Amino acid sequence: MLNPPVKANSSSPSQFTIIRLPETLSPLFPPHIRIITPAEKIASDLGSTLSPSSSIYLPSDENWTNETTQRWNQWNAPSYVVSVKPAIKEDVQKVLQYAARNKVPFLATGGGHGYSGTLGALNNGLELDMGYFKSVKVDAGKNRLIIGGSVRFRELISPVYAAGKAFPVGACPCVGASGASLGGGIGFWSGFYGAISDSLVSVEIVTGTGTLLTASESQNSDLFWAVKGAGHNFGVVTSFTFKVYDSPNGGQAMNADMTFPLSRNGSLWAFAKSFAGKQPKELSLGFSILASPVTQELVIVVNAIYVGPLAQGRALIKPLLDLTPQNTNISYIAWKDVPYAAKYGGPAKSCDTRPLDVPHAVNLYQVDIEGLTAAVEYLNDTIPNTPALKGTVFALTQYSTYGFQQHTPDSSAFPYRDVIIFAQIDVTASKSSDLPTINSFTKSFRDRLQKISGKDHLEVYTNLAHGDEGAAAWYSKKNVPRLRKLKKTYDPSSLFNFYNSVNVD
Ligand SMILES: Cc1cc2nc3c(=O)[nH]c(=O)nc-3n(C[C@H](O)[C@H](O)[C@H](O)COP(=O)(O)OP(=O)(O)OC[C@H]3O[C@@H](n4cnc5c(N)ncnc54)[C@H](O)[C@@H]3O)c2cc1C
Repeated sequence: MLNPPVKANSSSPSQFTIIRLPETLSPLFPPHIRIITPAEKIASDLGSTLSPSSSIYLPSDENWTNETTQRWNQWNAPSYVVSVKPAIKEDVQKVLQYAARNKVPFLATGGGHGYSGTLGALNNGLELDMGYFKSVKVDAGKNRLIIGGSVRFRELISPVYAAGKAFPVGACPCVGASGASLGGGIGFWSGFYGAISDSLVSVEIVTGTGTLLTASESQNSDLFWAVKGAGHNFGVVTSFTFKVYDSPNGGQAMNADMTFPLSRNGSLWAFAKSFAGKQPKELSLGFSILASPVTQELVIVVNAIYVGPLAQGRALIKPLLDLTPQNTNISYIAWKDVPYAAKYGGPAKSCDTRPLDVPHAVNLYQVDIEGLTAAVEYLNDTIPNTPALKGTVFALTQYSTYGFQQHTPDSSAFPYRDVIIFAQIDVTASKSSDLPTINSFTKSFRDRLQKISGKDHLEVYTNLAHGDEGAAAWYSKKNVPRLRKLKKTYDPSSLFNFYNSVNVD
């Protein structure tokens, strides 16, 4: 094995005769012949061409786990025989060109929080770990944020806040700003600013042809349109430039968490419905149904974030407080702390776990009180009697559509600007033998939600998708033909097909 890990520009092991053969044959050869595996060959080839600060790791390297970006979800995870960490954008080009030439399947890793089950189609591939692309620069004068291709929300939140600015981060601080914004990106600022991709000014991207391009409104604008919402399909982004905004409300926000018994769900849906189509942009709502860690009974955790004066926030959630929650935790905090406080800090605490999590999601365009109440009843009938389902979380996230609608439907490939609720049903499996039970339950629950979604077909925010929905559901029927045409131009060999590919029906 090439151990210690290959540093780029290290000379190839010239004292050995290099023969490319399956690993199983190696013991048959005499000691003066050093057999290298296909992965070692890749490491050796790339090691001699990449810039000196790049690194290459094999799974046998003892620091593989520490030095390569670890994936959060273990369900349908891609597998790698080699991980390459390019140091500069020209290295990214070289890796991509090498992989294309040698037909080595590969995937870029940003924050490692990719959900979609389509990622699992990559077996024994090359990981293009963007882990050295971590720069974060805020230009407050120009209202710009420039980040590298693997920056996570938690790495940009403090610098943006310190500059007195706001940026539409996702709900969970450990998610990659890269993967999230390439699929759109949603979070508690969406009411103001829409999808995260709506704040994109430009990207530097190595496309599937191996070319390094800038894409913006004025350069390669067709690619820029596609990158904002379907970006995982076209290349590897080395750098993102976003707009940032003067912090509303002096950078302060109310975070309110409340716990209710399941029996209150009808009233909670009525509360949600009272805002449908007229939610103030400052208000974000989240409803999570899950087993209480104390009693194991299903409860509803409601999270309300209000980017405005505390008294106004409290007034808006008064109908909830009047329902006498079992527990209430209201704080008025800097927006940078909201992702760590929201939902009793649960999402942030899950950052360093590595669960076996099966996701399903549906966009809801209405709040169907009766349908949601029936769905909750079904959960209550099913989950307590099915041990495989005890890690179920049914989460409904409701943002104002104001921010999304500040941008025309044709402004980007992000297709769904009128979603009232992003609904997710996630089940964390405690063992893989539970997966068949989980899959059939979550699929049928998704079908049930689709029927009350207000659409006669399934639509889903691509970054929360299970992976079996197809391109029309992820990108809209209208956008798919245009995306497929662009794919032929920018990724003609379909190198970027492992994440909700636009080519999948
Ligand atoms: C716990 C959790 C919480 C989440 N919360 C939110 C949320 O609040 N809002 C939201 O919008 N989404 C959320 N998501 C979904 C998230 O946006 C997607 O899963 C996203 O793809 C994760 O991006 P990543 O960079 O972390 O993941 P990765 O697994 O690294 O990447 C996911 C995909 O993006 C590609 N990619 C990553 N970086 C680059 C790059 N630089 N260039 C090209 N391709 C790249 C990868 O190749 C892969 O195909 C959440 C997911 C999880 C697991």
